[in-house]
Amino acid sequence: MEKCIVCEKPQKHGIHLYTSFICTDCEKAMVQTSTQDPTYQFYIKQLKVIKENKIYS
Ligand SMILES: [Zn+2]
Repeated sequence: MEKCIVCEKPQKHGIHLYTSFICTDCEKAMVQTSTQDPTYQFYIKQLKVIKENKIYS
């Protein structure tokens, strides 16, 4: 199992984005979240971490 970068829990199913892992639940939740939703800002923040890891790795 891999640790999801959004919910930070070990999950069996999900997608790989660069070197990071996002579980199926979080991926679905992200797609369904409105940009007006404060939760969306949390996802953006988590994704920014992925991008930064990609640049510096
Ligand atoms: Zn997750």
